[in-house]
Amino acid sequence: MRLAGRLQVACITSVAVVIAIFLADGGVGRFGTAADAFTSLGILSGLVGTDLLLIMMVLAARLPPIDRAFGHDRAMALHQSLGKPTLYLILAHAALLITGYALLENINVFAETWSMLTTLPDMPLAFIGFGLMILVVVTSVVVVRRRFRYEAWHAVHVLSYAAVLVAIPHQLSVGALLSDGTIAHYYWLALYSAVAGSIVLFRFVLPVWRSLRHGLVVDSIDHVAPGVVSISLTGRHLNQLRAISGQFFIWRFWAKGLWWQAHPFSLSAAPNGRSLRITVRGLGDASAELPRLRRGTRVSFEGPYGLFTENARTSPRVVLIAAGIGVAPIRSLLETVSFAPGNATVILRSHAAGDTYLVDELTDLCRVRGAELRIIAGRRPEGISSWLPADAARAGTTLRTIVPEIKHSDIYICGPRPWTDAVVRDARSGGVPKEQIHYERFDW
Ligand SMILES: Cc1cc2nc3c(=O)[nH]c(=O)nc-3n(C[C@H](O)[C@H](O)[C@H](O)COP(=O)(O)OP(=O)(O)OC[C@H]3O[C@@H](n4cnc5c(N)ncnc54)[C@H](O)[C@@H]3O)c2cc1C
Repeated sequence: MRLAGRLQVACITSVAVVIAIFLADGGVGRFGTAADAFTSLGILSGLVGTDLLLIMMVLAARLPPIDRAFGHDRAMALHQSLGKPTLYLILAHAALLITGYALLENINVFAETWSMLTTLPDMPLAFIGFGLMILVVVTSVVVVRRRFRYEAWHAVHVLSYAAVLVAIPHQLSVGALLSDGTIAHYYWLALYSAVAGSIVLFRFVLPVWRSLRHGLVVDSIDHVAPGVVSISLTGRHLNQLRAISGQFFIWRFWAKGLWWQAHPFSLSAAPNGRSLRITVRGLGDASAELPRLRRGTRVSFEGPYGLFTENARTSPRVVLIAAGIGVAPIRSLLETVSFAPGNATVILRSHAAGDTYLVDELTDLCRVRGAELRIIAGRRPEGISSWLPADAARAGTTLRTIVPEIKHSDIYICGPRPWTDAVVRDARSGGVPKEQIHYERFDW
């Protein structure tokens, strides 16, 4: 079975195990009264909700097997799609248990909540965790998230670790299900330890160790266009990073005002064992500061990540399509992706002629490697969903008319999200199978 399949089975199994824990504890038999039914459903939703929460954390932890199986953008999409169901289960857990206990003790839900908070030692922490989790999920809803700076949103999101940690004591101490000495207790601890261990190892220990080992520093900065720079980095044993064209790293530049934030940028040249290169367009405060970096600035990193590589190839022909700064990974792919001369097309899309980056390098590479370069300029039409300029879209031009062999090509696409979606739709309606379409998103 493929890695992605095995990971999916592992997730489903983990949910099945928590349901089995509930059943093994005699859960089915405790539905005789309304109070029991509320309490049992509350316990079950808490178990499944917590399990999903741990799965979400693993999906966001940038573990190498997850990146290899899904790619970070798909892993993050899965992480986001689990957010609401998980919140609803945890909300249901709290509401059902409070109602169940209130019915049992014949008091109202407010009195029951107060009684839980004041008589059960680990409950105040559990309520704090509950509040933090609501905060994290609410600030992640797209419309709310857009109002925050990325770093502010990220700082709130990191609170989910605290939310999970402070909820652990009540899971082990309230009720007998996960109490000390039971198999379920040890399973629960092992599950938490595995998740915490992999987060600490892959998010913190390995990146720090690798950054120290490779000692990356800024070597040179080339101005590509107004607001766009290529930054070359050198360091030790770079071939041992095993980075390949099309991948990205998450970089932290140890310069004033930048050291506290890390940003993803793709390789814009094939790694050669001596240096790495990225090309950055200043779109926000951090990326706009990068042209001012000094030679010798230390750089730490996480990665390499991403499936936007030669490894995704399925056919001998290749079409590379970029818009804007999406040209960065396309440029590195063009250097190393395998094809016979005449079997590759590079398409650069821009609003206006001359509005493209790295064109000289792409022109040279296309000449040396025998690829065709097409630069297509012009604004997209209003009211029609097309990735092409208005006049081309109205004339019925499609990817298939530009590249007649498109059905038998691997297509690599990198550009803004709506534009990328329009290229993917065009490719699909031109008969290109899903497995031949590869894209990198610059937003998660
Ligand atoms: C996989 C990937 C590869 C990328 N490769 C390139 C590249 O090669 N060249 C290039 O110019 N840009 C690239 N980007 C985009 C680049 O990461 C953002 O433009 C940059 O992080 C913006 O940061 P800022 O502080 O300058 O702007 P802000 O104003 O803080 O943010 C602008 C946008 O970038 C997003 N963003 C900010 N910080 C991060 C972060 N740490 N992680 C994810 N998204 C963030 C925000 O959500 C916002 O939509 C890539 C993004 C991704 C996800």
